Amino acid sequence: MLTVAIDGRTNVAGVIGDPVEHSISPLLHNTAFSTLGLDWVYVAFPVPAGRGEAAVAAMADLGIRGLSVTMPHKVAAARACERLTPVAEQLGAANTVTNLSGSLVGDSTDGPGFIDSLAEHGWSPEGKRCLVLGAGGAARAVVLALAQAEAKSVVVVARQREQALAAAALAGASGTAGSVGDAGEADLVVNATPVGMTTSEVPFELDPGLLGPGQLVADLIYAPALTPLLAVARERGAATTNGLGMLVHQAARQFRAWTGQEPPLEAMSAAVVAHFSQLR
Ligand code: NAP
Repeated sequence: MLTVAIDGRTNVAGVIGDPVEHSISPLLHNTAFSTLGLDWVYVAFPVPAGRGEAAVAAMADLGIRGLSVTMPHKVAAARACERLTPVAEQLGAANTVTNLSGSLVGDSTDGPGFIDSLAEHGWSPEGKRCLVLGAGGAARAVVLALAQAEAKSVVVVARQREQALAAAALAGASGTAGSVGDAGEADLVVNATPVGMTTSEVPFELDPGLLGPGQLVADLIYAPALTPLLAVARERGAATTNGLGMLVHQAARQFRAWTGQEPPLEAMSAAVVAHFSQLR
């Protein structure tokens, strides 16, 4: 895949997480580097829980240009940065660290990447009623991004009311904690739980009768490509999208921050689509 020989001048970026060996990020970023012929390489660093802050801090001394951050280190990464973007500051978490001449800047590209993926479908959250299932890290990023994209309302549904309220608060006055029955009034329904990844369950046993034409149902899960929620939404005539677009766009934003270049989106998408079709 790499078209450039690695030598002493090669720029290094990577991902920290636990587990990290099945991460798609090396494929995405190395595809982007080789497509543009950049002297960059991206590797996966397995970093155990509790060592995230130290791993991020080491970037400056090692000269690592950029890090993607995945579970369980997003909060620790934000702590280790000298500066946070407003989005990372509000979330208290960073999925991206950029080494700017030794100064570490934390950002969170998940939410904006999700909005970018909707834009690919010609869909804007502005003025729309949105419902987010789940209140974890990805849900929080999506809630904040929907509010910043001027959604009319953002309802958060979670098992733990305190978490739903905390996530909804990220949307300010437009955010509320609600119930799965509110899906009938939503223009956009987002699954930000892992439910449907390995089972045939629909999150919160959402009644398919609440879904229909005119709605967009998004699942942040990308494997399988067609989750149980997306399958019932399609049957009911709703538009659907899985998490692959978000995955590509959050990486594209990281690539832009680290290299200052426009990411080759088509090549990145094609690489992940080919990867997942091989697994089928
Ligand atoms: P997380 O921080 O662990 O949050 C998971 C959320 O799902 C929590 O609110 C959790 O509630 C809820 N949940 C888990 N099992 C549930 C169940 N059986 N019923 C109802 N709610 C349940 O995880 P995350 O990082 O936010 O990730 C969530 C999903 O988004 C994952 O599937 C992940 O792969 C996906 N994701 C995709 C992308 C992408 O680029 N496409 C990026 C990030 C994440 P409790 O607190 O009550 O357990």
